[in-house]
Amino acid sequence: MNQFYRSLEETLSSVSSDPRRELALMAEYAAGIPSDRFLLLCLIDGLPVLSQDQACRLSDLVRRRAQGEPLQYLLGSADFYGRSFSVRPGVLIPRFDTEILVDTALPRLQEGASVLDLCAGSGCIGLTLGAEKNLRVTCVEKYPEAFALLQENAAKIYPSARLVQGDVLTDSVEGTFDMIVSNPPYIPTGDLPSLSIEVRREPSTALDGGEDGLYFYRILASRFVSSLNPGGWMLFECGIDQASSIENILRSVGLCDPVTVRDYGGIPRVVGARKPREVSYV
Ligand code: GLN
Repeated sequence: MNQFYRSLEETLSSVSSDPRRELALMAEYAAGIPSDRFLLLCLIDGLPVLSQDQACRLSDLVRRRAQGEPLQYLLGSADFYGRSFSVRPGVLIPRFDTEILVDTALPRLQEGASVLDLCAGSGCIGLTLGAEKNLRVTCVEKYPEAFALLQENAAKIYPSARLVQGDVLTDSVEGTFDMIVSNPPYIPTGDLPSLSIEVRREPSTALDGGEDGLYFYRILASRFVSSLNPGGWMLFECGIDQASSIENILRSVGLCDPVTVRDYGGIPRVVGARKPREVSYV
């Protein structure tokens, strides 16, 4: 590695636990390599040789990264479930933990089933489910910057998704669904100031879950239980120590068979329950 790259790597080490990988990604971005080829070329050829312009672009990216801008915003993309999603400031960056919600949802869906993704953001959950299993997908997102990204991502990942710009707290969504999924804002308001500098660059509207972090679960469960088909699942991502409270919320609206799934760090990360099937008395 030459002196130029070495000094950039050192700068990145102040914010990153994996400065070498971040440097490689930013260097490839600066060199104009498409995001679906990131890291592949570096593995074969090492870090790319840059023109003067590209080197300037990379220095600028590293400077911004060292000031706390999230890597994915700088690159304009984030990987989720093996696909590249466009991201920019104004949308929550897809997280690896959220893949657990997808893993929990997929075996509970038949091909062609209908799925509603509330607070869809980049669309990583709903569009991934659609692309994995050819579903009828509806994604709802309120904020214009996020909705624009949802449209971009749908066009490349699952164009048949129905996209609705609306407020899940007040608007109704036409139709009934075999599954409702959501990664709503769930950080208790008082915890927002202690989030990392990167997370604080993300929209607080995607993070702030009210005083106890459970505001959205209460409203979404009660507003959308009637949109669920009999036997259908409502599945949520949740934060630390929230699963059992959410289970109670889901029971209180009449859902049953609760499930909780832990993330790779052992934290309950997904919680859900299903609508009872209609019982016919003879
Ligand atoms: N998982 C996100 C974080 O820890 C929070 C996402 C959310 O509130 N839905 O920063």
